[in-house]
Amino acid sequence: MKLKTKIHLFSTLLMLVILTLTNTGIYFVYEKLAYDTEYHQLKMQSEDLVASLSKVTGQNPALVLLAYLPPIGAVRVLDSTGKEIVESTTVEGMRNYQPKVEPSEKYSIDEFNKTPAMVINMPIIWTDGKVVELQMIQLLTDVKHNLRLLMLILLGVTLVAMIPITASSIGLGRIVIQPIENLIQTMSRSRQTGNYEKIDVAVEGKDEMAQMGHEFNDMMGQLECNFKKQEQFVSNASHELKTPLTVIESYARLLSRRGFDDRAVAEEAVGAILGESVRMKDMIAQMLQLARGQEHATFNFEKTNIHALVEKTLQPMRQAYTRDFILEGNEQSVAVTDPDKLRQLLFILLDNARKYSEREIKTTISETETNVSIAVTDYGNGIPKEAIPQLFDRFYRVHEDRNRKTGGTGLGLAIAKELADGLVAELKIESVVGMGTTFRIIIPKEQILTDF
Ligand code: ADP
Repeated sequence: MKLKTKIHLFSTLLMLVILTLTNTGIYFVYEKLAYDTEYHQLKMQSEDLVASLSKVTGQNPALVLLAYLPPIGAVRVLDSTGKEIVESTTVEGMRNYQPKVEPSEKYSIDEFNKTPAMVINMPIIWTDGKVVELQMIQLLTDVKHNLRLLMLILLGVTLVAMIPITASSIGLGRIVIQPIENLIQTMSRSRQTGNYEKIDVAVEGKDEMAQMGHEFNDMMGQLECNFKKQEQFVSNASHELKTPLTVIESYARLLSRRGFDDRAVAEEAVGAILGESVRMKDMIAQMLQLARGQEHATFNFEKTNIHALVEKTLQPMRQAYTRDFILEGNEQSVAVTDPDKLRQLLFILLDNARKYSEREIKTTISETETNVSIAVTDYGNGIPKEAIPQLFDRFYRVHEDRNRKTGGTGLGLAIAKELADGLVAELKIESVVGMGTTFRIIIPKEQILTDF
């Protein structure tokens, strides 16, 4: 069953049940009130009758009964065995009518010729001094008529009320279902065409349906953006891997053609193959790291002495490269960070500084009230202003460095940016072409997040 039909059926049925229950209640309350009114009148009449009977002396009591006869009904006097002593009636055929009496109730409602009949019994002293029972019967013709009229009115009201209720439930179903149907159609169109289709949502819409539409469109936008990024990454990666593979292939061919006879050619070929293989291995390792970085890397934050951590990072750099790695600044600076990830980030910046400069590399630690910053400065060629916005893009390399054999992959700074984001740190660049470059990591001293 469709959701629209379910909403429609449920709300209509619910309203029908509520209306029926209310109207049934109204009907029975009215019936009870009408019976009670009739009872009071009949009782007063019977009390008057009893009073008159007590005054009767020598007169025929049947005549008194006649005077107090209900307009449509009967009056009877029954002896202790239930046998009729005297009776007066205005209704034909009532003479033999024996009503069913509820002894515990103040009045009984029975039926005579399909008309409700009210019966009350009361003990009285008869003219001969014996205790007898006075029975008054009244046919409730007016009440029956009024009740039938009431029932028709209530039925009519129920039916008339059901028209707007049904219409509103259909309207409600439409309001709720229309956006869902739009969503389903858009999703199936997206699946068929492979496009990231969006739905039309009123910009100023504030209700949940509009919210759902906006969320869906945002999600589609994000999926499209991620897909494009992924596509770009794959095409960049395959393009970047093609170059070293082509170099390896051509040197291998050269080696197989002439290398075994010419030692110089063989050495050049093996050197080139080795160099390109190492570059490919590095690139693959970095690509893997980037891919893994996307799957929620775990950061373990702890209170860290930044000076000690930078010194520990510089040590192996000094060992590996014959270059001056200078460390300056506050030795006591402490921040809450992930030391391993921060070292990894520093290695990338220090390695770049080394690759793209010839002179010493200076690392400076400074702090403010809220942050500790580490600046890695080199005195190399610097980075042109226009290249800075793309610097953190995967595979991006400044044009001259692409042509120069610095052994880079263009992935280092993309990884550095992801690490900095994970560390909730800021990564800033200051560079002057021909003078040098400073990469600055700004780490907040305190972290609210400890693991994400
Ligand atoms: P790569 O593997 O090429 O070094 P990166 O992502 O680390 O990749 O850097 C991207 C580009 O940014 C580099 O190719 C280089 O052109 C430029 N770059 C990065 N660091 C420096 C620096 N300290 N000095 C000059 N240029 C730099």
